Amino acid sequence: MKKLYDVIIVGAGSGGAILSLLLARQGIDVLMLERDVQPLHDIRSEILQPNGQKVLDDLGLLKTIPTEAVHQTHQFDFFRIGKGRLCTFNYGDLPVPYNSALTAFSGPLHQHVLDATAAETTLTVLYGAVFNGLMRRGKTVMGVMAEHEGRNYDIRAKLVVGADGIKSAVRKALGIPAQVYQYPEGYLLGVLQRPPGFDHRSRYYIGRKEILGLLPVPNDQLYFFYLLSNATRAGLDAAGFESIKNAMAEIDPSLAQPLKQLTRLDQTIFRPCFRVRSKTWVADGAVIIGDAAHAMNPHVSQGRMQAMQDAVALSRVAQGCLAKGDCSALSLEAFERERRPHVEMLQRLGDEQTFFWNSASPVIQFTVDRVLRTLDDNARLRYQVLTTTAGLRQQSPFSLADKLVAVGLLPDFRSDAG
Ligand SMILES: Cc1cc2nc3c(=O)[nH]c(=O)nc-3n(C[C@H](O)[C@H](O)[C@H](O)COP(=O)(O)OP(=O)(O)OC[C@H]3O[C@@H](n4cnc5c(N)ncnc54)[C@H](O)[C@@H]3O)c2cc1C
Repeated sequence: MKKLYDVIIVGAGSGGAILSLLLARQGIDVLMLERDVQPLHDIRSEILQPNGQKVLDDLGLLKTIPTEAVHQTHQFDFFRIGKGRLCTFNYGDLPVPYNSALTAFSGPLHQHVLDATAAETTLTVLYGAVFNGLMRRGKTVMGVMAEHEGRNYDIRAKLVVGADGIKSAVRKALGIPAQVYQYPEGYLLGVLQRPPGFDHRSRYYIGRKEILGLLPVPNDQLYFFYLLSNATRAGLDAAGFESIKNAMAEIDPSLAQPLKQLTRLDQTIFRPCFRVRSKTWVADGAVIIGDAAHAMNPHVSQGRMQAMQDAVALSRVAQGCLAKGDCSALSLEAFERERRPHVEMLQRLGDEQTFFWNSASPVIQFTVDRVLRTLDDNARLRYQVLTTTAGLRQQSPFSLADKLVAVGLLPDFRSDAG
């Protein structure tokens, strides 16, 4: 390890790993510190949306994703539990080449990105290295203090990037005020054998404070996520787990057989959900990206994609700052100005969806059904929602007039325009 780098990135998650590659490919000298000894490999899966596919494609990493890591899906069918289909979103309606959703096992996909870092001669990745604090001169960040294999290091850098997730230690060390909100519900995740007759379409069931998502994944498997309150998960015992399995089989009877393989709670994972709102993302000599700056509710399935898009935007801005020898907050602000509007729109959308979809109120459920049924018939509004989820649209999917159309209070004369 050297004593001085151009850039130190704290955290080798999606945002950090993509940024490290982009910077190293510009010949910039980068050190990436990762607390974990090796990347996490468990059953969690995520949707790689079209905007994230483009980021990987531009790095030459999309077509080489191992086939056992991703499954291509075009259609997402939305159902009201016990009442049938409400709406279908078809990624095939999007512009080529990114006109599908890729459901990926997060571990192998992330490993694929990290493997690419090995070829970069100006990039050092240090696993088991924990960020402990910032080196400063006055208000300006000059580097980091880190611990690796029992030894403490002071390492200088022209720019320090906090890509260290929701509970970001870099954000705290910078003294950036942030609201870290934990939603009352998270998701129970697991993988089942895909039942016979379950095709390549994804299913999304909404009920009374109940959500079940079923996404086909490689090897004829099916990834599920089931909405669960944090309190229920905390007190969940074997009997409670059985009743969750029964509830899932009741929602989709094709799961009854595969669920028999799930005999213990530790075959599943519970992921809590957070939103982070940080007052600023930049400081003199430092910047925060991804969940550290702006975690969002997974309803929009965009958190990882936004961390990757941050990396793309920051790599451009950082290159200019390093070339000028000016990594002040004022220079880095261009990054925040570019990214904040899109991210905040998605955060608001995630909260709206949480309010409507996680609700037990019959009035709200009626409204949700009405909106989804309108979308099923209305190609224009459906496309606006699809392009937002796909990360291709910067503005909110609905204007006020669109909202009135969606709940059936206004006719839509442009409904056939895609
Ligand atoms: C249930 C659920 C489903 C989701 N589904 C999707 C989806 O379908 N699509 C999508 O795009 N997003 C999804 N997300 C969101 C996505 O997982 C996150 O937004 C994304 O992982 C954020 O990436 P990141 O690089 O900012 O942070 P992280 O992935 O959290 O990476 C941070 C890294 O920093 C390291 N670190 C932390 N502290 C230190 C330290 N002190 N020193 C050194 N290293 C440190 C950590 O070990 C970690 O490797 C989902 C989230 C949840 C909860």
